[in-house]
Amino acid sequence: MRYVSTRGGAAAQDFTGVLMAGLASDGGLYLPEAWPQLAPADWQALAGKPYAEAAFRVLRPFTAGALDDAVLARLTAEAYAQFDHETVCPLVQIAPSRWLLELFHGPTLAFKDVAMQLLGRLFDHVLTARGERMTIVGATSGDTGSAAIEACRGRDAIDIFILHPHERTSEVQRRQMTCVTDDNVHNIAVRGTFDDCQALVKAMFNDAPFRERMRLSAVNSINWARVMAQVVYYATAAVALGGPARPVRFSVPTGNFGDVFAGYAAARMGLPVAGLTVATNRNDILARVFASGSYRKGEVARTMSPSMDIQVSSNFERLLFDACGRDGAKVAALMQGLDADGGFELGGLLRQAAPLFTAAAVDEALTLETIAATHRSTGRLIDPHTAVGVAAAERVAEDALPMVVLSTAHPAKFPDAVERATGLRPPLPERLSDLYERPERYEVLDADLAQIQAHVAQRARIVRE
Ligand SMILES: *Cc1c(COP(=O)(O)O)cnc(C)c1O
Repeated sequence: MRYVSTRGGAAAQDFTGVLMAGLASDGGLYLPEAWPQLAPADWQALAGKPYAEAAFRVLRPFTAGALDDAVLARLTAEAYAQFDHETVCPLVQIAPSRWLLELFHGPTLAFKDVAMQLLGRLFDHVLTARGERMTIVGATSGDTGSAAIEACRGRDAIDIFILHPHERTSEVQRRQMTCVTDDNVHNIAVRGTFDDCQALVKAMFNDAPFRERMRLSAVNSINWARVMAQVVYYATAAVALGGPARPVRFSVPTGNFGDVFAGYAAARMGLPVAGLTVATNRNDILARVFASGSYRKGEVARTMSPSMDIQVSSNFERLLFDACGRDGAKVAALMQGLDADGGFELGGLLRQAAPLFTAAAVDEALTLETIAATHRSTGRLIDPHTAVGVAAAERVAEDALPMVVLSTAHPAKFPDAVERATGLRPPLPERLSDLYERPERYEVLDADLAQIQAHVAQRARIVRE
């Protein structure tokens, strides 16, 4: 399998090249040169298989020529053994024709674990085979940091440094990072804001000699391997509900367009998907572009679903590439318009080229009301991100087809919103129940680039000449 850049100006690469590069050299994102196809019998064969084996079967075409089957089978088995539920991503029915797909049974209680647990192992495998190491650096306001740390902890070839704003994350968020005491995990509490942390990380990447010397890398959501890993649960859910004979709809709470793009990829691979609902909170750039064809940045508003408080959705570029007939020059011109003018116009292009998608923006009041209503009708507590997905699903034309809402976080991860809606405070699940008693390890440093670079250089175990 070869991969091409959405901007048409970078050489094609195999899976390993794309995994290690993240972003293409022309600033574009990688996509398979052609969508691999699974036949109805191949989808059918996933029925009743353990999740890791389904993952192996769905992902194999993407890694073909770059990873041995035995390696992919081992890495998927190890990644999905880290989940608390035997089926990894279970389906729960909440109404006639409506299901939740619970993606939060991993180590940090949010759906990013599903892809990150595999990504960390893929990195480690490739680096070890090459006799190399790398240093991952990232900034977090709370949630992505812990998923990255859990994915990299204990990996021989990787050191990870995560910057968070000192005393500005919740205690649960901090402890999910700082109670990981593996030698290769380095938490830095920066005396400053999340913006300071992001600026420091950016400055480290912009310092070319430092970047090369430390072999800096990121685990951000534009990496193809993350999108690829998310295709799997669309397939397991559809097959469990009667696919491929019966098409299924999905409603996906989204910010960066990564998760819902994986659903589109599944459809392009031949999985019968009847519709994909793009569910956003008040930060509605995606809902607006599907409604009006106008893609325009707004101000980021803070909401109860902070993991979707995003105004530029990086993975949307991947859909644009297909919608523009895979014309990289056209995509490059549109993205230039985004930088120069803050947006671009697509007219009716998406409706024509991507008719699977519908979109809905859900405000804060409806999010709370949906958490409360779901609790009244099912006895279940859902988190605010999931509630956005449930509310958006309500707006899609009713038919007899199954509608699956992706449930992206455990309610205990966002207890304040859940308590406000229902009066009930969801307890942490058993794997984290002693979180408040665990020892913490982190360093508090000033928001000073030289000091933080020295800290990283002293601790990173890159191969030195
Ligand atoms: C990251 C995240 C999302 C949004 O996912 P995208 O891939 O950015 O669309 C939704 N819900 C939760 C809980 C998240 O952590």
